[in-house]
Amino acid sequence: MGTESVKCTACGAELQTTSTDLPFKVRQTAIVILKDLPVLQCVNCPQYLLPDNVLRPLLKKPHLL
Ligand SMILES: [Zn+2]
Repeated sequence: MGTESVKCTACGAELQTTSTDLPFKVRQTAIVILKDLPVLQCVNCPQYLLPDNVLRPLLKKPHLL
């Protein structure tokens, strides 16, 4: 585990690893809320990134959403 420092694509500030609840749209009329999802949150603005290792399993298993 290293301390990777990733920069915000919007403002260039540091991103910090945190966990949050995120809504995902699964159908035209339906969303699911994923709880305690690890994300990289900008310390300076509302921008955030989903790390690849979080996003990829979700995309592979859309039926779970
Ligand atoms: Zn930012």
